[in-house]
Amino acid sequence: AAKADGRGVSRFFRDEMLAGAQKRKRLEDDLRRALGEEEFHLVYQPVVSTKDQRIVGYEALLRWEHPTRGLVSPADFVPVAEECGMIEAIGEWVLRTACAEAAKWPAQVRIAVNVSPIQFANPALPAIVTSAIASSGIAASRLELEITESVFVNDDAFSSQMFKTLKGIGVRLALDDFGTGYSSLGYLRKAPFDKIKIDQSFVRGAIQAGNRNAAIIKAIVTLADTLGMETTAEGVEQQDEITLIRDLGCSHIQGFVYGRPARAEDARAQLASGGADAGGAKPVGHRVSR
Ligand code: C2E
Ligand code: MG
Ligand code: MG
Ligand code: MG
Repeated sequence: AAKADGRGVSRFFRDEMLAGAQKRKRLEDDLRRALGEEEFHLVYQPVVSTKDQRIVGYEALLRWEHPTRGLVSPADFVPVAEECGMIEAIGEWVLRTACAEAAKWPAQVRIAVNVSPIQFANPALPAIVTSAIASSGIAASRLELEITESVFVNDDAFSSQMFKTLKGIGVRLALDDFGTGYSSLGYLRKAPFDKIKIDQSFVRGAIQAGNRNAAIIKAIVTLADTLGMETTAEGVEQQDEITLIRDLGCSHIQGFVYGRPARAEDARAQLASGGADAGGAKPVGHRVSR
């Protein structure tokens, strides 16, 4: 009986794995077609200044509308795109599309774009960034590239040179999801980040008394201030968290409390409703979505 059970179990796992591999293969094939079929679009989430509650920019977030599966989360397909080599082409499309969209906004509103470690490891990235900026016509200083800590596991000399080259182009650099990776403070010494994005896991529960997250956020902010970097608290969902985050000294807030990621036309309408004097920035009370 034990033997039969063993066979049963191994066959179960083999079937499961086979189904997994086939599913995976199909996802890869679908991904390869998705760009040409125009199944991707970007949504934009506002980044708000804690000082005056105005929108300083938007983060572009990728969405895939699969013909049969519906909306697939980037958390599910970006890793697959990274592994099957599609992230280069998709990432370039994201950069070009986001810059072109930002060109329609008031000139001081920034656009943040997520850059995969795979893109970052490509020596052609600076040329792609330069081209996206040039063809859109936006100032390089309006583009912020969001990079995660994982780029630091790669060749140190290469990373340093890449940072230097990108800064030379004039774009801004943000360290995304700070505190979740192999956090080493060593790289903050070398990498010329303009901003640290504090991961939303630290914002969760920070409002509760006795929660350690607030202390951690405060420490990160102190560090960033000392290094001359801005800070964005990610994933702020509640009104009372806004006050806390501001009191902890974060310069910016991004989260559902100020708006969920929305279609380009919604972001444009949001900016337009800010009024001429606001220059595209917009008081909190006028937010269009939650
Ligand atoms: P991220 O860059 O850290 O983006 C922030 C994520 O937090 C987004 O998820 C956003 O929708 C979500 N978020 C924002 N505010 C809140 C909030 O108040 N509460 C909660 N619960 N969530 C909030 P999304 O759009 O699903 O993206 C997930 C991740 O996928 C991104 O994390 C980023 O790592 C990756 N990603 C998205 N677009 C791209 C892209 O164009 N290229 C690359 N390489 N990665 C991307
Ligand atoms: Mg990001
Ligand atoms: Mg993040
Ligand atoms: Mg993330």
